[in-house]
Amino acid sequence: MIEEAKQVLKQYFGYDEFRDGQASIIEYILAGKNTVGIMPTGGGKSLCYQIPALMLDGVTLVISPLISLMKDQVDSLLHQGIPATYINSTLSNSEVESRMEEIALGEYKLVYIAPERLESFGFVRFLNTLPIPLVAVDEAHCLSQWGHDFRPSYLGIYKAVNQLHSHPTILALTATATPQVQSDILHHLHIPDEYKVLTGFQRTNLFFQVVKGEDRKRWVERYVQKNHQHSGIIYCATRKEVENLYLFLEKKGFSVGKYHGGLTDTVRQDQQEAFLNDSITIMIATNAFGMGINKSNVRFVIHYQIPKNMEGYYQEAGRAGRDGVDSECVLLFSPQDIQTQRYIIDQNIVNPELHENEMQKLRDMVDFVHTEACLQNYILTYFGEHAEEACGHCSNCLDQRESEDVTKEAQMVLSCMMRMNERFGTSLISGVLTGSRNKKILEWGFDRLSTYGLMKDQSQKEVGLFIDYLISEGVINVEGGSFPILKVSSKGKEVLLGDKSVSRKVQPTVTAIIPKEDGLFQTLRTLRKSIADSEGVPPFVIFSDKSLQDMCVKMPKTSQEFLQVSGVGESKMDRYGEIFIHEISAYLEENPAHQVKVSKTVQNRKTNSSDTPSYLVSFALFKDQKGIKDIAKERGMSTATIENHIIRTYQEGVLDDWGILFTEEEENLIGKAVEKVGTDLLKPIKEELPKEISYFQIKGYLVKSGQN
Ligand code: ADP
Repeated sequence: MIEEAKQVLKQYFGYDEFRDGQASIIEYILAGKNTVGIMPTGGGKSLCYQIPALMLDGVTLVISPLISLMKDQVDSLLHQGIPATYINSTLSNSEVESRMEEIALGEYKLVYIAPERLESFGFVRFLNTLPIPLVAVDEAHCLSQWGHDFRPSYLGIYKAVNQLHSHPTILALTATATPQVQSDILHHLHIPDEYKVLTGFQRTNLFFQVVKGEDRKRWVERYVQKNHQHSGIIYCATRKEVENLYLFLEKKGFSVGKYHGGLTDTVRQDQQEAFLNDSITIMIATNAFGMGINKSNVRFVIHYQIPKNMEGYYQEAGRAGRDGVDSECVLLFSPQDIQTQRYIIDQNIVNPELHENEMQKLRDMVDFVHTEACLQNYILTYFGEHAEEACGHCSNCLDQRESEDVTKEAQMVLSCMMRMNERFGTSLISGVLTGSRNKKILEWGFDRLSTYGLMKDQSQKEVGLFIDYLISEGVINVEGGSFPILKVSSKGKEVLLGDKSVSRKVQPTVTAIIPKEDGLFQTLRTLRKSIADSEGVPPFVIFSDKSLQDMCVKMPKTSQEFLQVSGVGESKMDRYGEIFIHEISAYLEENPAHQVKVSKTVQNRKTNSSDTPSYLVSFALFKDQKGIKDIAKERGMSTATIENHIIRTYQEGVLDDWGILFTEEEENLIGKAVEKVGTDLLKPIKEELPKEISYFQIKGYLVKSGQN
C-alpha cells in the first residue's frame, strides 16, 4: 500500500520520499483508523489526506476554518492535476448548487468545506448520498477551548460525520497543540491514543531570534533595508502600531501593505492578495492576518511586540519558510508590551479560570524572551516535546558577544528609583539620571537628589533602553496599567546590596542570515510571477521557492531532468516544463559563470561523498559504527531519513550483515510479534515488543524476512 502511495507522491506532487510522519499517517488512514497527525507548519500535513483521497474510492471531505485559503488550496490541487473544489459562503447559491451536482456526479476527489456547513441538515443529507471514505479535519486544535482558536462549530463535527452512512475515517491535523489540546482532540473525535502521530514540532529551517533593548523602529528599518527583496510579515499587537509602522516604512519607500480588523473587507482582501501575489513584499499586520495564508515563500516574520501566548507566536512565526527554505523569526522585545497584552486579556476575558489560563500563557511567553537557553528547545518543551540538543542557530545558541559588567550602572538606576520613592515610570527616572531640566523634575525637586545627573554622559533614550534591559532581566518590576510605575524587584534589591551582579552583551545584535538570491533565481521568479498573473493565481501555486532553487542547482535541459526537480509532478511538467527549461538554457547561455558557481557549491557540499548516492554515504558512516543520531547530525538530515537510507542498503543487498541491526534474540522476538499481529501496520508490532526494540529494527526484520 505504502509503495502505491509513494508512486502517487511522485506522480502528482513530484517528491521522492515521504517526510517524517506522512507514511505512518497514510498507512493508518488506508487501514481505516481514525488518526490524528500533529506536525509543524510546513511539515506536509495536506499530503496526508490528499494522497489517500487519490487512492480511495469516493470523495474526501476536508473541513477547514480557513475559508480564504480554500481557493488557493483548490487551485494548487488543480495545477497538480487533482480534481478538487470547495463550497463556502463566498459562493452564490447557484454556484453552490452546481458544485453539489458535480460532486454528486463524482467529478471531484476532494471537497473543502467550513465546519459550519455541517450544521445544515440539508447539506448533511446531501453528504449521505455520497461515498465518503475520509474526512480530514484541518486545524483540529480549534475544537479545544484550551487552544488559542476555539471554534464552537468544531464540536459538532464528530456527531455529523458519525451519522454518515459511508462511515468515513477521520483524520485530524494540527500544527500547534499542547498536550492538553491533543487530548481534547483525541477525546472529541474518538481517536485511540495509538493512532496519534506526533512528528515533533521542530522546524529546522527557522532561525529564532529575540532582540531586546534596541530601538525597534530603527532595527526594523535596517532589517528590511537588508532584506527588501524577500517577502516578510511584521506582526504588531494593535491596529495603531500597524498604522504607525506602515506609515514609517512606506515613507522610507519600502513596498509595504497593512492588514487589521479596522480596515474594510475590500481593503483587507486587496492587501492580502497583493502580498500573496508578490506585488508587495512586506505585510504589517495584527494577528488577524495569516489564518488564511498559505504563501510558502515568506522569508521572515518579525514580531514587533510580544504576542500573548506561545501558541499564537509559534503559529505566526511558523508562517515563515513553509517551503523548507531557511527563514528568520525575530521577536523584538520591549517590557512595556507585556502591559499591553495584559490589558488586552483583561478587556476580553471575563471567566476567571480562562483569565488565569491566559495570564499563565503570557508568563510563559515572557519567559521565552528571558531564557538564555536554546529558543527552539524552549518552544519544543512548551509543546510537550522532549528536546535533546540545542538547535545551534537561534540567537541564544549563536550569541558569542562578550558580556560587560553593568552592575554599577544598574545600582545607579535602582538607587535613583528608591530616592524617587518608586512612584514613577521610565521617562522621569531616565530624565533625573541624565540631569534633564524637565519642568516636572524641577517642581518635584528631583534636581536636588544625589542621583541627579549621575548618567549625564548618556542620552535620555540610551538610559531608557538600559532601564528596559533591567526590566527584561527581572531587576525592575513594572506595575500598573496605562501609566506603568517601576519598582525595584527582590533581585534588584540584591543588586543594590552588591549580592548580585548584572551583565549585558555589548555589541548590537546581528541581523539578516537569509541568503542572497542569485540571478537565475530572480529570472525564474519573474517568469513565475508573469505566469501566475496571467493565470490569476498566487506565484507559489505555480512553483515553490524550493522548486525554483532546485532548478537553479539542477539546471534541467530535458523533460526527464525537469521531472527530477523537487515539487515537479507530471501535471506541472506538462504545463510549465518547456517554458522553464527554455528560460534556464537562455540564462545559462548568457551567464555561463552560473554553471561553474553551482558545480563548485555542489562539490563543496558533497565533501565526503564525491558522486556517491546519498544513502550510501549514510551507509558508509553506519558501517564505521556511527550511531544513527550522529550520522543524522553530521549530515544535517532527520534520523528517519538516515534509517531509511540504511534500510535501503539492506533492500538492495549492499548490506547483509544483520548482526549490526539486531541480535538473534531480538530477531526472534520481532518474528513472534509479527506472527501474532501481522505486517499491515508497524505500530501494533512495536506494541507487542519491549520498548528497547525500535521501528528501525522492525523495518529491518521485515526486509530480512522478505515481508517488505
Ligand atoms: P502544512 O499543511 O503541514 O503546513 P503543507 O502541506 O502546506 O504543510 O506542505 C508544506 C510544503 O511542503 C508544501 O510546499 C508541500 O508541497 C511540501 N511537501 C509536503 N510533503 C513533502 C515531501 N514528502 N517532500 C517534499 N516536500 C513536501
